[in-house]
Amino acid sequence: MAWAYVWAVAVWALISRDKRGGKLFVPAILMLGVLPDIDLFFGSLGVVHHTFTHSLFFWLVIFAPFLVVFGRKSIPYLAAVVQHFAFGDFLVGKVMILWPFSRSYFGFNIAMSSVLDVALETAGLLLAAGIVVFNGDLKRLLSVDNRNIPMLLPFLALVTSMLFFAVDWSLAPLVAYIWSRKLLTILVLDHVILATFLAVSAAQGLRALKQRALNMRKLR
Ligand SMILES: [Zn+2]
Repeated sequence: MAWAYVWAVAVWALISRDKRGGKLFVPAILMLGVLPDIDLFFGSLGVVHHTFTHSLFFWLVIFAPFLVVFGRKSIPYLAAVVQHFAFGDFLVGKVMILWPFSRSYFGFNIAMSSVLDVALETAGLLLAAGIVVFNGDLKRLLSVDNRNIPMLLPFLALVTSMLFFAVDWSLAPLVAYIWSRKLLTILVLDHVILATFLAVSAAQGLRALKQRALNMRKLR
């Protein structure tokens, strides 16, 4: 999610006059950043992880109508989804990036929670944090504004993905295990920081909704 935001902002800064790359619809960027992994939930239907939802062709087809209607405005959103498998999974895994033209898996397959993986994930989070401060997104995302309500979606997606890996554990051994491996501790900390930020942003959105309801009541 953090790298999706970094890539989307960078791509938008490159192709537009808006050199700060703010004002993208952040909840959509974050969701697109994890959307290819939706294949994890369709395993029972015979869908194999890292196959067609991790291919360039698949997403180009899905984005074609948006590219036609919205033009280059849709490119940062395409970048958010493509970086998932062309950057993230490509480094820390292997993906069928050329499906349906080739069913070979490509990637560097660096181990998850290795030094390089944790360094990359942490760097992504720090970069994203720097950018949100610089381009004004931080102020927007933490303001009492109902445009922040959709931040609930990436929050739930992040929490779901964390539970996906933790569901077979009870809490005490899980915490002990995470604490015993420093790299994993950092990785979990990164996730907790991001989840907290998303939760606060979504809560601010919901506060705006509540205030609106109260104002409506006063008017009556
Ligand atoms: Zn993936």
